[in-house]
Amino acid sequence: MKGQEQKDSAAPMGTSPAMECRAEFIFYARNQSRKLGSVEVLGDYTCDFRRPDWAHRWTDWNSGRNQYLNLFLCAKHARELGLL
Ligand SMILES: [Zn+2]
Repeated sequence: MKGQEQKDSAAPMGTSPAMECRAEFIFYARNQSRKLGSVEVLGDYTCDFRRPDWAHRWTDWNSGRNQYLNLFLCAKHARELGLL
């Protein structure tokens, strides 16, 4: 049996795993109704989709109750979620 060393060890070259994504756009809840769309992210943020509280944030976003909620998303996930 091979592959017993595959458990959780770091990638040898230190490259980002494909699982990780960087936020490329900010979506402001207060802009939703005005259809202003997205704002490009200038800093270095992890995509909110990867956050442990993502489900909660997404529920909040869809409820429209939290006007101060911002979503930081990569283009891929923003598209999947129908935000782009
Ligand atoms: Zn993403």
